[in-house]
Amino acid sequence: MAVTTLRVVLGDQLSGTLSALSDLDPTRDVVLMAEVMDECTYVPHHLKKIVLVLSAMRHFAHALAAKGVRVRYVRLDDPTNTQTLRGEVRRAVAALKPHRVVVTEPGEYRVISDMRDWTEDLEIRPDIRFVCSIADFRHWASGRTSLRMEFFYRDMRRRTGLLMTPDGEPEGDRWNFDAENRKRLPPGLPIPPVAGFPPDGLTQAVIDLVRQRFTQGFAEVDGFSFPVTAGDAETALADFIANRLPGFGDWQDAMRSNAPTLFHAVISPALNIGLLDPLQVCRSVEAAWRRGHVALNAAEGFIRQIIGWREYIRGIYWLKMPEYGALNALNATRPLPEFYWNGATKMACIRHVVGQTRRHAYAHHIQRLMVTGNFALLAGLHPDAVDEWYMAVYADAYQWAEMPNTRCMALFADGGIVGSKPYAASGAYINRMSDYCTGCAYDVKQATGPAACPFNFLYWDFIARHAERFASNVRMAMPLRNWQRMAPDRRDAIRARAAEFLAEMDAPPPL
Ligand code: FAD
Ligand code: SF4
Repeated sequence: MAVTTLRVVLGDQLSGTLSALSDLDPTRDVVLMAEVMDECTYVPHHLKKIVLVLSAMRHFAHALAAKGVRVRYVRLDDPTNTQTLRGEVRRAVAALKPHRVVVTEPGEYRVISDMRDWTEDLEIRPDIRFVCSIADFRHWASGRTSLRMEFFYRDMRRRTGLLMTPDGEPEGDRWNFDAENRKRLPPGLPIPPVAGFPPDGLTQAVIDLVRQRFTQGFAEVDGFSFPVTAGDAETALADFIANRLPGFGDWQDAMRSNAPTLFHAVISPALNIGLLDPLQVCRSVEAAWRRGHVALNAAEGFIRQIIGWREYIRGIYWLKMPEYGALNALNATRPLPEFYWNGATKMACIRHVVGQTRRHAYAHHIQRLMVTGNFALLAGLHPDAVDEWYMAVYADAYQWAEMPNTRCMALFADGGIVGSKPYAASGAYINRMSDYCTGCAYDVKQATGPAACPFNFLYWDFIARHAERFASNVRMAMPLRNWQRMAPDRRDAIRARAAEFLAEMDAPPPL
């Protein structure tokens, strides 16, 4: 029978509600899914991310086929695979001769630019799996002088009705309980484990394939346990709500060396490939608060991450691309040190975060922002190199989410669109929020001399390097004043130690 429509489903579009599938006719349409090398290698992805995406694609294709849908599924090791999305669409069009090709807009600018060349009869549909459409975000942003997340978030609360009273006021009379969400973790506090999903036969076949084909990728596939189906992702969410959400608010910013996930949800790998629906996730969390299972600061803190930060970050990405990808407001030029890949550094905080990232393809927000991101900001690492690293190492990395967080929130490369000031911090912040400094080779109390914590002298060196730029930023007035009040010989010693440390980092002595 003639094929009416070829429906292309990409690796991060594994949702039953996908716009490209909305009018699917199982008797006349074909769904195309292709595992291609091009997508697996455009950055050296963490091997667990490759396993996650390929396994979830295979499970999704099986579920469609079980409903009677015709699926043209191209495996990575298929000898006829052209290994590009464009090549696979063109091959399918030549073989099936559909009347039209339908796809949902991708999550990365790189892919949409390529997509426009796929075939003449291509219909690109909006991605309706977000709470705020790209068009609505543009409308919200138009004419505003400040695009701060907080104002967007309040609009989203009103629009969704989440945590709102029947009178249209925020529950608890406040929009934001962030001030209550920065507690230090009491030593010995038990941390509930994250639900794991041991590989089934389909996933094991993918693990074998990945081991065979990707010898150069970051880290290892051992211990893969991410959910790869919508059902398992729901189970993971339920486990988070039951066991970790109650502690999410209070200890959201805390870090502990033997507990990589703490009270976080660890749902971004599943959410970003479409196994969970963001609004449903928020409704489940709201319901947990309404039935008295969690405090308001936990529910609000979590919901803000999704309808606030996640939606805002995506909106900013599509508003500002492609120019956004080249921003470098602080003119940072330093190459990425090797220890971002191998963790071989005396800085215990970086060693821990890189180590857990290699093992789990996961770090929580504060580890990404205030440890590896903060170091990259203070040391002046080039945004392209830092972007590539964050894209490569996390299981949830897709450019729409990764780039505004890295380039702009962590590196301030947009000069202040996302944040009003850089998230620069000395070792004191890391010491307050973690146990990393106990047992570190450096002393977090010192800012000069060979034993000084690098975050301390690099922090002041950063302030000094950019003093002129930050002079007009009221939120940077205090650190600038503190730097200017410091005794000249102390300032010289700090800057000399920073120069020495950075020179050694750029050209490490031979082992
Ligand atoms: P939780 O802390 O439990 O939060 C719940 C959910 O909120 C997350 O799953 C995520 O979907 C959402 N969320 C929270 N903060 C953000 C944010 N700033 N931007 C987008 N979503 C957010 N997130 C990604 O999904 N992909 C990335 O590639 C990515 N890169 C990042 C790079 C840097 C430098 C930084 C600072 C943050 C990055 N984030 C990224 C945001 C955030 O760190 C992760 O979403 C979060 O750590 C995922 O873990 P979780 O599911 O346990 O999150
Ligand atoms: Fe990190 Fe400095 Fe603490 Fe060491 S002393 S763990 S380098 S913040």
